Amino acid sequence: MTYDLQPPASHYVNGRYVEDTAGAVIEVIYPATGAVIAKLHEATEAVIEEAITSALAAQKAWAAMSGTERGRILRRAADIMRERNHDLSVLETHDTGKPLQETLVADATSGADALEYFGGLAASLTGEHIPLGDGNFAYTMREALGLCVGIGAWNYPTQIACWKGAPALACGNAMIFKPSETTPLSALKVAEILVEAGLPAGLFNVVQGTGKVGGPLVTDPRVNKVSLTGSVPTGRKVYAAAAEGMKHVTMELGGKSPLVIFDDADLDSAVSGAINGNFYSTGQVCSNGTRVFVQKGIKEAFLARLTERLKGAKMGDPLDESVNFGPMVSENQISIVERYVAKGQEEGARLVTGGKRLDQDGYWIEPTVFADVTDDMVIAREEIFGPVMCVLDFEDEAEVLARANDTEFGLAAGVFTADLTRAHRMVAGFEAGTCFINSYNDAPVEVPFGGSKMSGVGRENAKSAINHYSELKSVFVRLDACEAAF
Ligand code: NAD
Repeated sequence: MTYDLQPPASHYVNGRYVEDTAGAVIEVIYPATGAVIAKLHEATEAVIEEAITSALAAQKAWAAMSGTERGRILRRAADIMRERNHDLSVLETHDTGKPLQETLVADATSGADALEYFGGLAASLTGEHIPLGDGNFAYTMREALGLCVGIGAWNYPTQIACWKGAPALACGNAMIFKPSETTPLSALKVAEILVEAGLPAGLFNVVQGTGKVGGPLVTDPRVNKVSLTGSVPTGRKVYAAAAEGMKHVTMELGGKSPLVIFDDADLDSAVSGAINGNFYSTGQVCSNGTRVFVQKGIKEAFLARLTERLKGAKMGDPLDESVNFGPMVSENQISIVERYVAKGQEEGARLVTGGKRLDQDGYWIEPTVFADVTDDMVIAREEIFGPVMCVLDFEDEAEVLARANDTEFGLAAGVFTADLTRAHRMVAGFEAGTCFINSYNDAPVEVPFGGSKMSGVGRENAKSAINHYSELKSVFVRLDACEAAF
């Protein structure tokens, strides 16, 4: 790899690396071994201030450029990301612990897709002409919001930086991005690449830190929009703080999504869906279908096939491309998962496979399946955010739909069935923002992504993201005389 794991400095502000060693130390840990691979400093007030002032100084000229010019820079950045995919993926693997087999196809590539997609869209962001009779008319102008703050979770650091940065920049905004303190490395590379592609300094700044840095960014009156990817408790706090300033928000939060498997489903395909929806990225995916409802007739066949297929999970050096199951991201996260595994056993769920932490350095736990889970168990109600699948039985469609929706979350939902009429009925009934029929967890940039209920507000990706990074100005034009009552 050509990238050093230790970046030149902690932050990327105004087109260059910036350091302030007065900030608290952030140790970056390689989850596969527990070794410290880099040390960074949390952003100080001075760093945050430079991020804000340089962003404001650059934003108006950026918004005044044509969409074609802005888009060209984003598309060039997409090309650079693709050229460097291998190095970026190795870095992402060190940052997150996710196996290289995954990061090579799901992180910088997904980020590049977002840059390419929104780069392509930038020139077509227009308003409309509204005829009003008698020659009078109105038109709308689509305008940038100004300064946007992006705050990321640790599971997809490159992707999150690009899913927020690309539409923000395409619309003519500046962005300050604060990665998760657990995975601070990759977003710095996104900033570097954007500048290399021609992005003027100040338009995409990266500042490091915990909520102590995120908090002041959210409340700063100069910030117009906040987009958070994180947990529901953080979302509540950030949404409330942003509301004080009447800021635009996008909230991409947690979930406990249902995956419903009817007995007419293709068994292997359904098992694949359940594996993708529970064990990809070691279960650390917000939209995971962790409540797997299996119709009674195929329950034992499903569990048998699943257990067989899980033997194909290969743990080991995440940089070995044949490894397909990595460690969890941190000691904190694995201990949360261990507590839920113990809770599931205490509650009387049947541990079908897995559940054990490996006796070695790093944060390794086996893919875990519980069966005979009931709706009221804690493991069926709370987001675990780890490789723990809960299998629940059901008898019929109406019953399973009601149970699937009986949650405060509404991020995603999936159904496997050979009956397409039933599949469409089910997704029409799901209280969830992102649904899958005979598939699970696909997230192409062309499709809106996001949640309802406690899982979030707004949508990322697709044309719909444009509405969340721009606003309309309406202009009324009178061609005849303007009259008044007196
Ligand atoms: P988290 O809520 O602990 O932290 C998310 C981010 O918010 C971090 O960058 C953190 O530093 C920051 N933060 C914390 N307190 C803050 C505050 N008061 N003000 C401003 N910023 C603050 O989440 P996490 O543990 O990093 O990520 C896991 C969670 O994220 C899970 O719940 C998962 O479901 C969710 N997630 C959602 C999506 C989605 O698209 N819906 C994607 C990935 C992860």
